[in-house]
Amino acid sequence: MKLTVIGTGYVGLVSGTCFAEMGNKVTCVDIDQDKIEKLKKGIIPIYEPGLEPMVLRNIENKTLFFDSELANHLDDSDMAFIAVGTPMGEDGSADLKYVLAVATEIGKTITKPIIVVDKSTVPVGTADKVRETISKELKKRNLEIEFSVVSNPEFLKEGDAISDFMKPDRVVIGSDDVSTTEKMRALYAPFFRSSMDRLITMDVRSAEMTKYVANAMLATKISFMNEVANICELVGADVNKVRIGIGSDSRIGYSFIYPGSGYGGSCFPKDVKALQRTAEENGYIPKLIKAVEDVNNEQKLVIAKKVIDRFGENLSNFTFSVWGLAFKPETDDMREAPAIYIIKELAKRGAKINAYDPKAMQEAKEFYLKNIDGVSYFDSKYETLKDSDAMILLTEWKEFRSPDFDEIKKLLKAPIIFDGRNQYNHAKLIESGFEYFQIGKK
Ligand code: NAD
Repeated sequence: MKLTVIGTGYVGLVSGTCFAEMGNKVTCVDIDQDKIEKLKKGIIPIYEPGLEPMVLRNIENKTLFFDSELANHLDDSDMAFIAVGTPMGEDGSADLKYVLAVATEIGKTITKPIIVVDKSTVPVGTADKVRETISKELKKRNLEIEFSVVSNPEFLKEGDAISDFMKPDRVVIGSDDVSTTEKMRALYAPFFRSSMDRLITMDVRSAEMTKYVANAMLATKISFMNEVANICELVGADVNKVRIGIGSDSRIGYSFIYPGSGYGGSCFPKDVKALQRTAEENGYIPKLIKAVEDVNNEQKLVIAKKVIDRFGENLSNFTFSVWGLAFKPETDDMREAPAIYIIKELAKRGAKINAYDPKAMQEAKEFYLKNIDGVSYFDSKYETLKDSDAMILLTEWKEFRSPDFDEIKKLLKAPIIFDGRNQYNHAKLIESGFEYFQIGKK
């Protein structure tokens, strides 16, 4: 098939490249010309494992193209995927300005039938708005062109995006028209070699809702476990043991019950908030979903509070080594990362921060920690430790999982670790002379 994918962020670039890998002819379009020029040269603007070789291979095979002019491609496409950002608006709802700008451009441009696919995470009713926007533009041009609007929410995880897309747990297609559903099924068939059971079709509104409910459910598990961790600490229980105790129940499972410094990233925070707003706009007060967000906002600062309890309110004589800035491992994405909040909280009290992250330091320097005084960046995790008063672990990158604790002890002024991801063995660290602070265990 011939596809246009609009927006070359984490979702658009990965989706477009994976569709190309399956033999489709794909053009990825973005208004960011600099990004497009880089992509044409095979320079990938984001870090996503496995993405670069796949992009290069498909550019070489002439299955993947990049351009900044959407109008050049729509009439040569069977489908146009909208994969632009839907950031949180001022009132917490999803801001649809990018999605609707694309819909307007589609309406202004097409002269042939096309399937428009909403891949961005959008609230219930957005497909209707996209349809109305396109129709309005066609009306202005006195044209009647058949087009359909499908909801195909994306469930990939940054850091594992290629494998999630190539071997999906499920693909959800929301469509109110049988022939469009069949075309979508044909597009995704190569991704399901054994059975098509995991291609789930439904009406558009249910598909739109499914994406928000999936993210809200996962965020709920995280906040629930973080709340449990805080209670464990007060009553002298060990949340790491409780986690294993409950995860072994197949009805509960082990995933998303790791206590930590709260969820961040480009999706959970805004999607939980947007679902809350959708409920409120429809006259329902979502108590549980609101609590999920409240718990998370407080949880982001738990490690900062532990540092303050240990070193005092005035941190101007202290330097802390921070391992990990990205909101999770295997990505350079720092959107809503707990590290931003924790570092700001410590820097506000005069602390100096020696930071290291395998992939996210550029993002931190250019955007997220740009205006924060006292943050220095280092090329390796051990370099951050020199003259530091404690190490604070904030992202569970593999290279942090089993460090040389003797080296850490040697380099730090005193052997103190704050672990925002419960990565290390409490008993062993205490035995080897560390002061070791975790989430959910005294
Ligand atoms: P992103 O911010 O990384 O990328 C969006 C891209 O769209 C940018 O490159 C931007 O320049 C481009 N863009 C904006 N307006 C445009 C226009 N009119 N024409 C062409 N390009 C335009 O966003 P993302 O993280 O890829 O997320 C995209 C959507 O997918 C969001 O709705 C998000 O919630 C959803 N989603 C994201 C993830 C994830 O892990 N990042 C996972 C599932 C779903």
